[in-house]
Amino acid sequence: MLFGRRRKNPIRIADKGVKAWRYTTCGYCSTGCSIEVGLDQDGKAVATRGVGSADVNRGKLCIKGIFEHELFYSAQRGNTPLVREKRHEAFREASWDDALERTAQEIRRIQGAHGRDAFAIVSTGQIMTEEFYTLGKLARGLVGTNNYDGNTTLCMASAVSGYKRSFGSDGPPGCYADFEHTECLLAFGSNLPEQHPIIFWRLRQALEQRRFPVIVVDPRVTMFAQMADMHLPITPGTDLVLLNSLAHVILKEGLADRAYIEAHTAGYDAFADLVEQYDPVSASRICGIDEDTIRNVARLYAKAGAAMTIWTMGINQSTHGSDGVVAINNLNLITGNIGKPGGTSLSITGQSNAMGTREWSSASGLPGYRYLENEQDRQDIAAYWGIDPAFFPKKRGMFMTDILPAIETGQIKGLWLVATNPMTSMPNTPRIRKTLERLEFLVVQDAYADVETNEYSHVYLPAAVWAEKEGCFTNTERRVNLVRNVVPPYGDSKPDLWIFNQLAKRFQNRNGVVFPETAEGVFGELRELSKGRMLDYSGMSYEKIEKQRGIQWPCPEGHETGSPRLYTDGVFQHADGKAKLIPLPFVDNNERPDEEYAFWLNSGRVVEHFHTRTRTGKIGNVNKFSPTPYMEMNPDAAAELGIAHGSYARLTSRRGDAVVMVQLTHRVPRDMVFIPFHYHECVNRLTLGLLDPHSRQPAFKQCAVKIEPAPDQKAAAVTNLAARSY
Ligand code: SF4
Repeated sequence: MLFGRRRKNPIRIADKGVKAWRYTTCGYCSTGCSIEVGLDQDGKAVATRGVGSADVNRGKLCIKGIFEHELFYSAQRGNTPLVREKRHEAFREASWDDALERTAQEIRRIQGAHGRDAFAIVSTGQIMTEEFYTLGKLARGLVGTNNYDGNTTLCMASAVSGYKRSFGSDGPPGCYADFEHTECLLAFGSNLPEQHPIIFWRLRQALEQRRFPVIVVDPRVTMFAQMADMHLPITPGTDLVLLNSLAHVILKEGLADRAYIEAHTAGYDAFADLVEQYDPVSASRICGIDEDTIRNVARLYAKAGAAMTIWTMGINQSTHGSDGVVAINNLNLITGNIGKPGGTSLSITGQSNAMGTREWSSASGLPGYRYLENEQDRQDIAAYWGIDPAFFPKKRGMFMTDILPAIETGQIKGLWLVATNPMTSMPNTPRIRKTLERLEFLVVQDAYADVETNEYSHVYLPAAVWAEKEGCFTNTERRVNLVRNVVPPYGDSKPDLWIFNQLAKRFQNRNGVVFPETAEGVFGELRELSKGRMLDYSGMSYEKIEKQRGIQWPCPEGHETGSPRLYTDGVFQHADGKAKLIPLPFVDNNERPDEEYAFWLNSGRVVEHFHTRTRTGKIGNVNKFSPTPYMEMNPDAAAELGIAHGSYARLTSRRGDAVVMVQLTHRVPRDMVFIPFHYHECVNRLTLGLLDPHSRQPAFKQCAVKIEPAPDQKAAAVTNLAARSY
């Protein structure tokens, strides 16, 4: 019974006139929920519902998925190509032929004048796997630039790097079903209920069947921390110290799985020497978690029959991101928790197809987890594509976070951005603005013409969105899901695959590479190139994927179903077949609060936002929950500064300033504030973005700011209102 009501109103579901339901997969996050889109009698998408027979979401969707059909008709969709000579001129509409010809000419001009690598490409984690593969073929096989990367460097690069260092290959070894087997769950820097609500719901379902300890490590009292059995409010940027100390206790107290270490790992002695230095007393002074809690967590984890760790950006977006991932892997290796039900290191991926780009885009190497540094891999792909292996560079080029600074130094003269928005997502926005202004040529390919980066472009290519096209996404648990085409592309926008293929035709004189016309044709190449490899797709087909609501790789030829876990046999991808235990000394290079800049600035995602709000900001029923830049601030700290709830405050860092609305809450400690990171001209005007040395991922979450009431509240309110335009 609801308060104040005598009778409960029956729930009525509005009749939207659905005449047919079409199967597809959600295009927002990496959970990989199966969706059906309802079409009315005119073929218009009018509703969305979860697919009950899909193992991932079992009929459920989060708020983004529930309103996803509205994406097709959302504001500011690009419907025709735009071109201009100079970026301060107005755009004029162009035919696809003109826009593509201009793009190809500019690429050739820049490469002719400054070398092939002077033209860079940065893509995304949000197009289909077949499109990633085709873009990689174009970039590596025809355009021939080595400065080609994805925006996954801003979110998952540390996980990739950490997996490669520990296990010899990328690829999350676990799955959601591990929740049903684990006896202890440790979560680092992951606010699962907001960032991945359906994965969280899977965890809740498992907890309803069987209790096991849930331990959340996070500087902020997140939603996840509130439901956990233990919350460890760690000092920002010190996860590595805590992880080393947990390993210290486990080794000291004889709780390690000696048989597993002996049989399946290398490097134990150097690792043990290093963690010997991280006793809980010393560690507690750095990471802020008391020594008893460290010992307690170490014992709980090591004594559990199966224990697992999940993590998201709290680990990855740090100067120690890659080390943090390796430290999680170390913890699981010394306790024998890899490759068994309930025992795993599971990075929770961000974008819908961040995994697809890691597997097939060639951004960090060659398709199918192949390396440019490996001669055999270069020869195999060159032979398959029909080109000279000498056309490939012998090692990977710049990461996204190095490409943008290389524009400042004149190494990069032209840039192609595909479904990514660095004007909002990169740290230190003022610097990025100046960087983009220096480009001789910028082409932006995106579903939305008002994406902020488009302000700096010379050519805009309107792309189809989500289920206006067909292809696969790989989710967090290596499940290949099928996005079926539901409605035709908006206006004269085109599927990214079509755009890549049209550009490829304009470079065929360099190498005669064949590009299949259809997504299913491209999928055939993935099956062939993956045969016998770790990420084997050869047993999959579109029909089987749809029927099974996704298939987890590896799925070799002749297999009916996929594989839920990797490394079940304890054989890893390093040449000796062993996983590496790697010693990880902690070097504190965070920007810390001081007298002048007294607050830690923390950032993250909220459930109703996604990827710089280019999509979610246009969906009224999603946008209404947090339409405007705000920050969480501790009421005691606010009282000291004379800042009231609902007023506007100005934050200043050594890079820039931002004005936000204040929300007072004890979720954040006295010396910290939190701002959702998808607002334009907001948190990234302040962030420092030091780079991780292994993954080149920026440290978005650790920097220092000072805070004061906004000097002119009326002006701040006007600015804030303007930010609500979408
Ligand atoms: S949890 Fe992720 S995949 Fe599932 S409906 Fe929400 S946004 Fe889509």
